[in-house]
Amino acid sequence: MKRAFVIGHPIGHSRSPLIHRSWLADLGIAGSYDAIDVEEAALPAFFDRLRTGEFAGGNVTIPHKQAVVTLCDVVEPLATRIGAVNTLVVDNGKVTGSNTDYLGFLGNLDQRAPGWDRGLTDAIVLGAGGAARAVLVALAERGVPAIQILNRTAATANALAAELPGPFTAHSLDAFASLAPRAGLVVNTTSVGMHGSSFPDLPLNLLPPGAIVTDIVYVPLRTPLLLAAEALGLTTIDGLGMLLHQAVPGFTAWFGVQPNVTPALRTLIEATL
Ligand code: NAP
Repeated sequence: MKRAFVIGHPIGHSRSPLIHRSWLADLGIAGSYDAIDVEEAALPAFFDRLRTGEFAGGNVTIPHKQAVVTLCDVVEPLATRIGAVNTLVVDNGKVTGSNTDYLGFLGNLDQRAPGWDRGLTDAIVLGAGGAARAVLVALAERGVPAIQILNRTAATANALAAELPGPFTAHSLDAFASLAPRAGLVVNTTSVGMHGSSFPDLPLNLLPPGAIVTDIVYVPLRTPLLLAAEALGLTTIDGLGMLLHQAVPGFTAWFGVQPNVTPALRTLIEATL
């Protein structure tokens, strides 16, 4: 029986076991997927355990996505560029790390707004943290010609724009008003929206008609940003699909079958939010 896992610290919040166990049951695969609490100091020993072949692989979540990069035997180039690994595959005693958050982000947009990138010239990405890196690499890989990084701390956005190869320009959040009229896509990658927080001064009304606003925060599912965009008649996409789609490549690698992100799976996870 093939075994997979998600490691993090703490790990109780993770919805990954529910997602992968649901696919195992639907596809009739005799495998397992468990949440394992691993503290940072215990990561090297956990990787030694992985090399024995006990697991086919697993996921890595907060706060270990950066720390595991140097523990992997092989790191896929996009994960190196993003600077974070969230998926591990074990083969012949070697651990390969990849980043599927960027695929999850694209898979969600492709499913919820097919053709979203057709004719898109300008995108605004709010935030310059770990999740922003995956989103920025995804948008650049997809060929979006101009990508504006807006962050509360402008220096962090500047450093990111300088470090990542791609059509990035850095700004502080107050540049939103001047950039909005050209932006066909706005992505929130900050943690704003959780715990009832919201952006105080984001003039979404300056976005062009037909602009898409997406949030990668999924608790709550409809964040204040999405509610405000919806009220203006803009297209909105929530962050739950990113979580579901990022899980697909790992499951496929460990269990040998590509699962589907179905409305039933979404409903199952939505019920836990
Ligand atoms: P992070 O590395 O800590 O980055 C946090 C970002 O949020 C920074 O840009 C920070 O700006 C900004 N920020 C925090 N509080 C703010 C405030 N009050 N006003 C304006 N900006 C603020 O976190 P992360 O790992 O990137 O995660 C960000 C969010 O993405 C989390 O909510 C996480 O749950 C979500 N996420 C979702 C998925 C998914 O599958 N849907 C995947 C990954 C992450 P400063 O630089 O100024 O501090």
